Amino acid sequence: MRVERPGDRRFARMAGAVAVVLGMALGALVAGLPGAGAGLLAGALIGLGLRRVLDRGTARRRDAVAAPFPGEWREFLREAYDHYERLPEEWRGRFEEDLRLFLSEKRITGVGVDATDELRLLVAASAVTLSLGWPEYEWEQLTEVLLYAGDFDRDYTVGEEELSGQAHGWGTVILSVPSLYQSFEYPDDAYHVGIHEFAHILDVDHTHFDGIPVGLDGDLARRWVEVAEKEMEALRRRRRSAFDEYGAREPVEFLGVAVEAFFEIPQLVRRRHREVYDILSAYFGQDPAAWDDARGLRE
Ligand SMILES: [Zn+2]
Repeated sequence: MRVERPGDRRFARMAGAVAVVLGMALGALVAGLPGAGAGLLAGALIGLGLRRVLDRGTARRRDAVAAPFPGEWREFLREAYDHYERLPEEWRGRFEEDLRLFLSEKRITGVGVDATDELRLLVAASAVTLSLGWPEYEWEQLTEVLLYAGDFDRDYTVGEEELSGQAHGWGTVILSVPSLYQSFEYPDDAYHVGIHEFAHILDVDHTHFDGIPVGLDGDLARRWVEVAEKEMEALRRRRRSAFDEYGAREPVEFLGVAVEAFFEIPQLVRRRHREVYDILSAYFGQDPAAWDDARGLRE
């Protein structure tokens, strides 16, 4: 994620120009020449206002990363998140910056549960794990994260053990707090509800999911569809697989399950499912199996 977004400036300039022209045209239509003048003024004011709003966003992001990373947050991440430990030094610095930008930009709301700093850190850590290799990425499709006090069912009744998380096409992610804690507690069981649901958000294209993440294009996308089909078939036939059988349901779920395994048991995925590993590694711009090699871990 970036503190300054060059796109914001371009957008403000363009929208300002459109507002001026529209204001003038509308003013001229309603009241002739004096109307055009008033319209021009109104349009210019709208343009300036927009620029101020966007500048405030930049200032907010700058503030978010200005102070040193809080020591207690670092301590907490070290304890709670094995993946943070796995990251090479320079990646860890970027992780901390992205974490703070994510927290300053995204709404995380507790529903019947207190959205503590710890929980917010776990949510942000889940998302940023996926996007760390993309400096420009902003999680724009994500509108809000809701934290539920427990697992829930399709009517959103908490206490039913049907779902531990859900991602909607319009950008809301729901996470069950106990399942989120459990995901961090067991770092190498290929289960992580946060990573799973945020992987679904990467797949959202105009509110639809199709199992091919946005940004995976051309040859890689074709190879992904083929290999996903092959792996899903192997899961259905109950062949030995590093992936959870939940991934056999549909391509959308295979993507979620494969991304969980890619970050939780990368060496095993690399050995047994090389093609999946290579595509995801190219897509995310990350090589977690090599990071585990480097810290002397074996499968
Ligand atoms: Zn899913």
